[in-house]
Amino acid sequence: MRLILLGCPGAGKGTQAKMLCERYGAAHIATGDLFRAEIAAQTELGKKVESYLKAGTLVPDAIVIDVVAKRLEESREGWLLDGFPRTLEQAQALDRWLEKTGQRVNRVLSLRMDENAIVERITARRSCPNCGEVYNLRAKPPRVEGKCDKCGTALVQRSDDQEHTVRKRLMVYEDLTRPLVAYYRSEHIFNEIDGNKPMQQVTAALTAVIDEDRTAKLGVRGRAER
Ligand code: AMP
Repeated sequence: MRLILLGCPGAGKGTQAKMLCERYGAAHIATGDLFRAEIAAQTELGKKVESYLKAGTLVPDAIVIDVVAKRLEESREGWLLDGFPRTLEQAQALDRWLEKTGQRVNRVLSLRMDENAIVERITARRSCPNCGEVYNLRAKPPRVEGKCDKCGTALVQRSDDQEHTVRKRLMVYEDLTRPLVAYYRSEHIFNEIDGNKPMQQVTAALTAVIDEDRTAKLGVRGRAER
């Protein structure tokens, strides 16, 4: 399974991606998570990308493409890309990599969001710095205020989830990432899903598309074997 999940900041890509990867056994390649882990571990890469994440701007394409190519190499069994590609340059680099390795993307799923709801949704987001579980103070609050349900660690707000940085990230999305919807829409592997619905309904819509693809693929295999 090779999937791309598109959507603006706060569309719920991370939450949905985790669920889909667990369900279908694909590697979850989330560039934002990868960068945050590098920053926390204070690696060379972490030091290089930290200022971009803080400012809500994009990490330069060359760095991102290099990081993703390494992860793709390690995940030949299947993957879901969450937060990549984010520019036309990245999408074209991915196309070249796929062609070189004889692979294809099965499906591009794009979460459509009402942008007025986004600032409110992102600024209510909290996460666990220990296990990575993500909460929302309104839609999915922790059982005990400020504490992770899974491991009890004190929850934190991502530094780029503060309102002025969120607004910057949304502007960057409009300028650089939204054009990817047009880039992929022309292909028959593109689906747009309403991301404004409750989380479970969005998951159901995403899995319906993926399951249909899998059934179609099994059907083709079955016919070839008969
Ligand atoms: P995310 O967790 O996907 O919202 O990403 C957080 C931040 O990581 C972004 O605001 C960017 O600074 C950086 N980032 C993540 N993915 C990419 C990418 N594909 N290209 C450039 N920057 C990225």
